[in-house]
Amino acid sequence: KNYSAAEIKKITAEENVQFLRLMFTDINGIIKNVEVPISQIDKVLANKVMFDGSSIDGFVRIEESDMLLIPDLSTFLIFPWGSEHGKVARLICDIHTPTGEPFMGDPRNNLRRVIALMQAAGYSRFNIGPEPEFFLFKLDENEEPTLDLNDDGGYFDFAPIDLGENCRRDIVLELEKMGFEVEASHHEVGPGQHEIDFKYADALEAADNIQTFKLVVKTIARKYGLHATFMPKPLPKIAGSGMHINMSLSNAQGENAFYDGTTDDGLSEIADHFLAGVLEHARALTAVNNPTVNSYKRLVPGYEAPVYIAWSGHNRSPLIRVPQARGLSTRLELRSVDPTANPYLAIASILAAGLAGLEQQETPMSPIDRNIYGMTADERRANGIADLPSTLHNALKALEKDKVIQDALGPHLYQSFMDSKRHEWNAYRQTISEWEREQYLRLY
Ligand code: GLU
Ligand code: MG
Ligand code: MG
Repeated sequence: KNYSAAEIKKITAEENVQFLRLMFTDINGIIKNVEVPISQIDKVLANKVMFDGSSIDGFVRIEESDMLLIPDLSTFLIFPWGSEHGKVARLICDIHTPTGEPFMGDPRNNLRRVIALMQAAGYSRFNIGPEPEFFLFKLDENEEPTLDLNDDGGYFDFAPIDLGENCRRDIVLELEKMGFEVEASHHEVGPGQHEIDFKYADALEAADNIQTFKLVVKTIARKYGLHATFMPKPLPKIAGSGMHINMSLSNAQGENAFYDGTTDDGLSEIADHFLAGVLEHARALTAVNNPTVNSYKRLVPGYEAPVYIAWSGHNRSPLIRVPQARGLSTRLELRSVDPTANPYLAIASILAAGLAGLEQQETPMSPIDRNIYGMTADERRANGIADLPSTLHNALKALEKDKVIQDALGPHLYQSFMDSKRHEWNAYRQTISEWEREQYLRLY
C-alpha cells in the first residue's frame, strides 16, 4: 500500500504506536533494525535517521561508517503482537550515504538496480512466489533450542492436533493480519518440518515478504516454546529445508511473458531464453542461493533437493521444474534455493541470469523427463547434465568465473560477499567432525 508520510503519522497516533522499527538486511540475509521511540517520527519520515554502518557485516569501512536510513513508506505495518510497552510498527529502509546517494553495499538498493535493468529491457515485473520450509524444535528449560523435534508427522500429515500444528496455524493467522495472502500451509516430509506458501509478488516486495515471514515464524514459534529454524539441513538422514522460487516475467502490458498458447509446451520464447540463462549460470548462482556450509548438506541425492543441472515439466528431481499450469500461472520453479539465501541478492542474481539468457537468445538443453537419480554418470554426461557445486568452496569458485552474476551483485556486494564467505569456508575447514573421528580414529 502506498502510504504518505502524513497518513503514517495519523495511523501511528490513532493506534497508539510507541516504537518504530527501521529494518534492513545485511549481506548474510540477517534482518537488522534500529528502533526509535515514536517521538522521533518526524525525523524518520524526513529521512534524517543515521546509523553506524561499520557495525554491520559486509557494509562499510570505518572511514565511511555513517549511513542514512530511508524508510520505504509502502512497507509500513504495525506488528499484530503486542508488547507491554505499546504497539510497535516497522518500516523497511533503503540505505543511503550521508550525501544522499543509494549505498551500493545495501542488498535492497542493489535489487532495485537490477529491476531497473529489467525494465529497461522492456519487462514490467519479476513475479516471485517463494516456498519457504522450516523445522520446529523444542526449547529447553533455559529457552535454548534443542534437537528434539516437536512431532513425528510426515508429508501433508494430519498429525493429531499438536504443538506444531497449532503453532503453524497461529503463524498463518498472524501473517494474514499483516496483509500476507497465505495460499497453503502443510506439514513437510520431515518430522517437525513445515511449509507455508504465500502469494507471489513483485521482486522487491517478495524479498521484503520473505524477510518479514522469517521474523513472524520465529516470533510465533517462541510463544509455543519452540525454535523455528531455516537452517537448510539441521539433521542428517532427514529432508532439508528449501525455499523453492517460482518466477515469471510480466511484459510491458502486464501479461505473463512466459506464456505462449501457440507453442507445443505453452512456453514462450522469452521463457525459453530466461530458462536457458538460469541454467547457464546455475553454478555461480548456487553460491548466492545456497550461501552457507550447511546448504550443501541439503543438496544431496535422496531428499527431493536438486543435485544436477537440468529442467523438466514432469519430474521433481531437476534443478528447474516447469509446473503444469499455463496462462497467467505459467512459471519456472527453481528448486535449489534455500532459506539462508539473502532474498535480495538471490532474486537479483536469478533475474540477471535470466536477462542474460534473453539478451544472448540462449536455447535451453532439452527437458529431462526421467528420474535423473536413476541415471549413470555416463547417461547424465550424454544428456548434457552437469552437477551443481557440491561445496560452498566450489560454488564460490564458480562465482569467481561468472561475470554476469558478479555484475548482478555489483562490485561492492560481490567483494563483501566473497570476503565473508571465504572466511566462513576457512573457519569450517579447520573443524574436525564427529564423523571423521568415528571413521578414522581407530582405523588408522
Ligand atoms: N524439502 C525439499 C527440499 O529440500 C523439497 C520438498 C518439496 O518438494 O516441497 O528442497
Ligand atoms: Mg515443500
Ligand atoms: Mg515446490
